[in-house]
Amino acid sequence: MRKPMLAGNWKMNKTRDEAISFCLGVSGKLPLDVECVVCAPAIILRDLVKRAPSNLAVGAQNMDYHDSGAFTGEISPIMLKDTAVSYVILGHSERRAYYNETDETVNLKVKKALEYDLKPIVCVGEVLEERESNKTNEVLKRQVLKAFEGVEIANPADVVVAYEPVWAIGTGKNASSDMAEDACKYIRDVLRTIYADKADEIRILYGGSVKPVNIKEYMSKPNVDGALVGGASLQADSFVELCNYQK
Ligand code: PEP
Repeated sequence: MRKPMLAGNWKMNKTRDEAISFCLGVSGKLPLDVECVVCAPAIILRDLVKRAPSNLAVGAQNMDYHDSGAFTGEISPIMLKDTAVSYVILGHSERRAYYNETDETVNLKVKKALEYDLKPIVCVGEVLEERESNKTNEVLKRQVLKAFEGVEIANPADVVVAYEPVWAIGTGKNASSDMAEDACKYIRDVLRTIYADKADEIRILYGGSVKPVNIKEYMSKPNVDGALVGGASLQADSFVELCNYQK
């Protein structure tokens, strides 16, 4: 009942021309039964929306939680809506680590995104020391409860949570599929305490060094509904392979 999702996070990569060649490279090769998404730098979103094949959705990688105002360098939800993107990544660990993103700002952003019909992909995950001191669940619970504090969810299919252990992002050290399943199941249990009747419809992705060679293993797990992929989403061929993990 939950449609699998494969979301690429391009981070600070790709010019407009590179994004357009990517669109040409994936065109006609993406499956219809997997929701395929690329989250791109804000400056190329409008072109990407225009050039993406119909079964490739486009997302942003961050946004501010104000509608407008004196926030130099920021992008508002109204601006994102104006580019016609569908998704926005919120609380990515790189934003938490380098740009002072906190559980509180993630919560404000989730509320704003939903107010403007932007579908949030909310990232949570522990750092290595937290995993090694058995604090993973404690961290996930805190991050999930705060991100969704006071958030009304009308359509659970429009809300996505990504479990991204920080130690596995961009390091090549992926979490085992059992670790991913345990964490995603735990996140669903936490969501169930807030959204009793909707938690089973919210998609939970795993992210952290996912590649064409390991995607199938993650997708075989009952609580892993998809993947958020950085490095391996940059090349059209690799993205096509990831999206077609069932073949
Ligand atoms: C990410 O950026 O969210 C990510 C999971 O990166 P990578 O796949 O490169 O580890």
